[in-house]
Amino acid sequence: MTQILAADKAGVSHAAALLRSGAVVAFGTETVYGLGADATNAEAVAAIFHAKQRPRFNPLICHYGSARRAFEHVIADQRALRVAAAFWPGPLTLVLPRRPQCPVALLTGAGLDTLAVRVPRHALALALIEAVDRPIAAPSANRSGQVSPTSVRHVMDGLAGRIAAVLECGPCEVGIESTVLDLSGTVPVLLRPGGITAEDLQACLGPVGHTAVSGAAPRSPGLMLSHYAPRLPVRLNADTMADDEAVLAFGPPPPGGCCRFQLSASGDSIEAAARLFEGLRSLDADGARLGASRIAVMSIPKIGLGPAINDRLQRAAAPRTG
Ligand code: AMP
Ligand code: MG
Repeated sequence: MTQILAADKAGVSHAAALLRSGAVVAFGTETVYGLGADATNAEAVAAIFHAKQRPRFNPLICHYGSARRAFEHVIADQRALRVAAAFWPGPLTLVLPRRPQCPVALLTGAGLDTLAVRVPRHALALALIEAVDRPIAAPSANRSGQVSPTSVRHVMDGLAGRIAAVLECGPCEVGIESTVLDLSGTVPVLLRPGGITAEDLQACLGPVGHTAVSGAAPRSPGLMLSHYAPRLPVRLNADTMADDEAVLAFGPPPPGGCCRFQLSASGDSIEAAARLFEGLRSLDADGARLGASRIAVMSIPKIGLGPAINDRLQRAAAPRTG
C-alpha cells in the first residue's frame, strides 16, 4: 500500500521519517515528481532502481536544501558559485567533482567521481529536505521508460504499491526536468536541456558546449563504457576462481582467489546493488596490492536488480577504449 500524504506539516514530517528510515517516497518539485531516498543510504538508493524497474544504474541527482549544503559534498569553483547564485533554488542541476569525504553513496552517482546536485525551489520539497537533514537522491517518479509524472495521480498510476508513500505537492510548475550542466571539466557542457535555457546559462557563464557538438560526449555516462571500469580486467560469470583473481562474490563463493568482496551472502539483488561500486573499487585496490591479474565475478541471476547489475558489470568488462 502506498500512502498519500497531505501537503501539510504532518505530511512532511511523516514523509521525512520514512525517508530517514530508508524508505522510498515520491514528492513534487517545480520540475516533475521525484522518487526520493536518503542519498547516503546505498540500500535505500538501490530500492529506487528496484521500484522504477530501471534496467541500468544511471547517476541520480542529489537534492539539497541550500547551495551551502550542496557544496559541502562537491567542489564548487567560481563558475558553480556564479550559476548557483543566479539559478538556485530552481531547475538547474550541476555536475561537479565529489569531495573526498562526500558521504553520498557511490550507487547514487553510479560509481562516478562526479555528483549531480540541485537545490529545488518548491517550498514543500525544500521543507522535506530540511526535515530529513540529508541529501535526497531522486530521479523522476515513473517506471523506467514511461513519461515523467507531474501529479500525484501520475505517480500512483506507475508506482502504486511499489513505494512507501507520495507527498502531495500539487501540480509541477515547470513540468519538465531540470537542465543538467556539467562543470567538472574546463568547458561547461550542457548534458540535458531543461527548465533553465542554454541562453540563460550563457548570459551568466559565457560559452557553453553541448554534448553533441563539443566533443565532450564521453562525459555523458551512458555513452562512456570504460568510465565505470576498474583498472583490473574483469571476467564475468566465473564459477571457478584462479589464485591470482580478486573475487566479486554473490552468494557462497567457490574456493580460490587472492581476495574477495561479498555483494550479498544471501543472494539479495538490492543488497548487491547497494554494494556493487564499493565492491569494484575495493577489489581494484586490494587486487592491485596483492598482484591480482583480474577481477572474477560470479554470475548474478537476472531477477530484481540483477539485470541492472549485469549491465554495469558488462560495461566494466567491455574492451577498453583507452
Ligand atoms: P533523472 O534520472 O531524470 O534524475 O536524470 C538525471 C540526469 O542527470 C541524467 O540525464 C543523468 O545522466 C544526469 N547525471 C546525473 N549525475 C551525473 C553525473 N555525475 N555526470 C553526468 N551526468 C549526470
Ligand atoms: Mg526520468
